[in-house]
Amino acid sequence: MNNQQIVDLGQQYLMPTYNRLPIALVAGEGAYVYDADGNKYLDFVAGVAVNSLGHCYPPVVQAVREQAGRLLHCSNLYWIEPQVKLAKLLIDHSCFDKAFFCNSGAEANEAAIKLSRKYAKTNGHGERYEILTMLNSFHGRTLATLTATGQDKCHVGFDPLPIGFAYAPFNDLAAVAAAVNEKTAAILLEPIQGEGGVLPAEQQFLQGLRKLCDEKDMLLIFDEVQVGCGRTGSLFAYQQFGVEPDAITLAKALAGGLAIGALLAKEKANVFAPGEHASTFGGNALATAAGCAAIGAMLEKDIPGQAKKIGAYLKKRLEDLCGRFHALQQVRGMGLLLGLCCDRPAAPVVAKCLEKGLLINCTAGTVLRFVPPLIIGQTEVDQCISILEESLTACGF
Ligand SMILES: *Cc1c(COP(=O)(O)O)cnc(C)c1O
Repeated sequence: MNNQQIVDLGQQYLMPTYNRLPIALVAGEGAYVYDADGNKYLDFVAGVAVNSLGHCYPPVVQAVREQAGRLLHCSNLYWIEPQVKLAKLLIDHSCFDKAFFCNSGAEANEAAIKLSRKYAKTNGHGERYEILTMLNSFHGRTLATLTATGQDKCHVGFDPLPIGFAYAPFNDLAAVAAAVNEKTAAILLEPIQGEGGVLPAEQQFLQGLRKLCDEKDMLLIFDEVQVGCGRTGSLFAYQQFGVEPDAITLAKALAGGLAIGALLAKEKANVFAPGEHASTFGGNALATAAGCAAIGAMLEKDIPGQAKKIGAYLKKRLEDLCGRFHALQQVRGMGLLLGLCCDRPAAPVVAKCLEKGLLINCTAGTVLRFVPPLIIGQTEVDQCISILEESLTACGF
């Protein structure tokens, strides 16, 4: 099938939940993907921060092939080696003590929400059930995580929303402190708001939240679904802020492209008893074997360090563009999660880049988001900048 045939079938049979670009991808290798008409693209979307090791990273492919031929799934009624190994790998390289595996970011946040309520109940605060999240945040699309998401536009049409969530402005410690009340069980936030437009938290803000949560015995939970697993220049983003949260949620890049989610928590928040939380496919052998290969390779090859270095180069090249195009305002982000802020809708630039063989993404309407595989080099950055420059010119930026 060619691009048009696949697009036509999709429009006929799929629910129109996504604004998809008019190409169908059929293969990928490293930082490049190919469509059904044989066109090649430089991929600076990487499955929205999922393909951090690039497409078809050989150790991940090999682990998946081997595991698929041995055991795909057996339920969490039994122990499996890849799951316990991935848990050990994550715990050994973080400040946390225990892991729970699921299949997506939303599911990991659901687990974190339940954990927060259970923590309050087991620590003498039966009256606490509310999760305080930030305005402009993104935490997923299930009813609870959608409600945790502090953006009205995601809520419209789905009420009544579940109770138990409150919001405060990001990077405003006084406002967050004022929003805490006798019902607040936890504060959940992204250290860098991804979908919200690549907005990093200020270090003092996160340190202030840590102090506030300690004082009130509330859990501090970071949603590292997008920023975790090496993207910001360290294995986990919290490591660069001098703040240890009580728990983090992970998903996207954790298994090198396979569906997975995880909640990591410190011993004090290790409060689920048998039967209180579960997931049929969570931590299955295939996903966790891929996760071991992906995280193992990241650590062995210092991929986070590479992301930091090449991210600094990409940031500098984007900042140069800001000086030359009047519609460009600012570059934000860390490592290889960067946003180029425009003074107008940026979707036309995404479409123009696609025509010229570059995949980038636009978030929050006016922010061009760059989330390439972490394995790219200077050549790929230079190619991206050159296509972007032509596209900005063509779009009258
Ligand atoms: C993508 C994302 C989610 C949701 O993950 P899914 O796997 O789509 O459920 C949650 N939080 C953040 C910060 C994300 O970027």
